[in-house]
Amino acid sequence: MADRVCLVHYHEIGLKGKNRSTFENQLVTNLHRALRSFDVADIKRISGHILVTAADGMATDDMAHAISRVPGVARVSVAYVCRQDPEEYCAAAVRALGEAGEFGSFKVHARRSSTNYELHTLDINRLVGSVLCEKFPNKKVEMHHPDVTVIVMVVNASVYVYTDTGVGVGGLPVGTAGKVVTLLSSGFDSPVATWMVGRRGAVCVPVHFSGRPMTADTSEYLCQDIINAMAPSGMVGRLYVVPFGQKQREISLCVPQSLRIITYRRVMFAVAERIARMEGAKALVTGESLGQVASQTLENISVVNEMVSMPVLRPLIGSDKQEIMRRAEEIGTYDISAQDAADCCTLFMPRRPETHAKPDMVHEAWDSFDHDAMIEELVQSVEYVDFDQCPSYKPPRQLRARHRELAPARFERRGDKDATGEKGAATE
Ligand code: ATP
Ligand code: MG
Repeated sequence: MADRVCLVHYHEIGLKGKNRSTFENQLVTNLHRALRSFDVADIKRISGHILVTAADGMATDDMAHAISRVPGVARVSVAYVCRQDPEEYCAAAVRALGEAGEFGSFKVHARRSSTNYELHTLDINRLVGSVLCEKFPNKKVEMHHPDVTVIVMVVNASVYVYTDTGVGVGGLPVGTAGKVVTLLSSGFDSPVATWMVGRRGAVCVPVHFSGRPMTADTSEYLCQDIINAMAPSGMVGRLYVVPFGQKQREISLCVPQSLRIITYRRVMFAVAERIARMEGAKALVTGESLGQVASQTLENISVVNEMVSMPVLRPLIGSDKQEIMRRAEEIGTYDISAQDAADCCTLFMPRRPETHAKPDMVHEAWDSFDHDAMIEELVQSVEYVDFDQCPSYKPPRQLRARHRELAPARFERRGDKDATGEKGAATE
């Protein structure tokens, strides 16, 4: 019986010219990481596709599903791999069609690339088609909109036969588009925003502002759960956590109530940008969506944005909440985000937040406390947890040197015996 392999298809976008091999090599590296829990024998490039071979020669649907979640994968098929032997690949076609479930009509679609096989695609279509008609006499051959298409692909010395193709997440391989720092809460929006930028190839470094010590540390664990849920996409290397509760209290004591949220945000942006510079990240990412809540009006976005000089990407700015929730379900973060947890945003909330902030008033409030000292202290108090899911993530050199100044993350989940605190120890 023929072996089964996973045949990975990727978009041609971003593949032109000399980028092509960088793109493909990165995708191969990322697939190795994403398939760590499977017994994989080999992952290699063949003629515009990537071929994943299982150690026992029998690639599974589970393997294909894991592959489909990796950015850069447009589609993935579980295919029988045969020699250039008509008897062998016709038998595989019969088998593949027999496994295709309910259908009324079918067609054969042969393709050839980089091969010196003497049969041409029309010959292969005819040959395989005639065998299938014989084995499935009650099914119709339909050239235009068949229920099932049997693909017979000849590449080098092999023939791949498959019917079914799973849709992948698309995008570009993580590691081909630089690094971003994403502001991650445990809500619905920012995990989706993070995922969207990661899907375009960026390595994501989330920063979470926790209300600790004024609130419990639940939101910090939810953020870790979110990152673990997104693990198949392999986009996050490290989570930074900033305990912000004490500083929020200080802000709440000296800034007018209505401007508290904007002031918190300005501090958050400034700290996130400092972390981004240490990380060598080129942009910040937020889950803001225009007009969704008080802080997301154009006026408020602009008085917060003026704190930073690097670009701020807002991939959800035009999305509706329903669309965002649907995406959260797809990427596996919905149930985690649905849990209630206090974070810095629920702390010292004003009764009536300003929705259309006046820059002069914001600046006056900003100058009423030593914001530079506060930002510096927060940067010095940053903690982090490493996640072993993103092969392209490189911790910053500068930070390695400053390592001792930063408290290593020490998140002990209540009831967990296993204290973390080592690099990467809090993951998985
Ligand atoms: P989300 O669903 O992402 O929590 P939201 O609808 O609650 O967003 P806001 O509270 O206005 O909206 O937050 C807007 C954005 O600010 C978030 O999407 C996120 O990028 C960032 N943000 C909010 N809270 C935090 C936090 N505690 N830590 C880090 N970033 C945060
Ligand atoms: Mg939120």
